[in-house]
Amino acid sequence: MKKTLINKMKTVFDSDSRNESFARYAVTAFIARLDPDVGELADIRTAVSEAVTNAIIHGYKSKEGSVVVEVRIYSDRSVRITVSDRGCGIEDIEQAKLPLFTTDESGERGGMGFAIMESFSDRLKVRSVLGRGTTVTMTKKLK
Ligand code: ATP
Ligand code: MG
Repeated sequence: MKKTLINKMKTVFDSDSRNESFARYAVTAFIARLDPDVGELADIRTAVSEAVTNAIIHGYKSKEGSVVVEVRIYSDRSVRITVSDRGCGIEDIEQAKLPLFTTDESGERGGMGFAIMESFSDRLKVRSVLGRGTTVTMTKKLK
């Protein structure tokens, strides 16, 4: 059967790291109607956190900006989550996705965000243009 879109939401918030928990709550509240199990919820929360944190700290480098989170629910119980920023963009996406690759010089970051997003979703797509911003799309099919 062809999968159809059954519900969608979009939220826009400031690039303030305190909004990272808001983003997690908003996404999990929206998908609650699918009755995800604890493991699925944890995966989605973690993946959203990683993507939103990246947008705020790398995309905007803690400067002002807006982060957009969109969620789409499809008839086959797949969920598509998009996190976008209009920040600095990524020069080499393949390199950025490598485990342990980080441009952070403070020593606080492990370079594992994309690897985590990749393993906690079924599919990860990254689109980025230098100086324009980054869009991360994660798809996960719930049981
Ligand atoms: P960790 O997520 O483990 O704290 P990290 O954020 O450096 O460390 P990744 O999340 O895997 O690791 O990201 C790898 C690199 O990709 C980042 O160091 C950064 O250079 C770049 N990057 C990721 N997301 C963005 C973004 N939204 N805008 C600009 N650069 C990004
Ligand atoms: Mg990260």
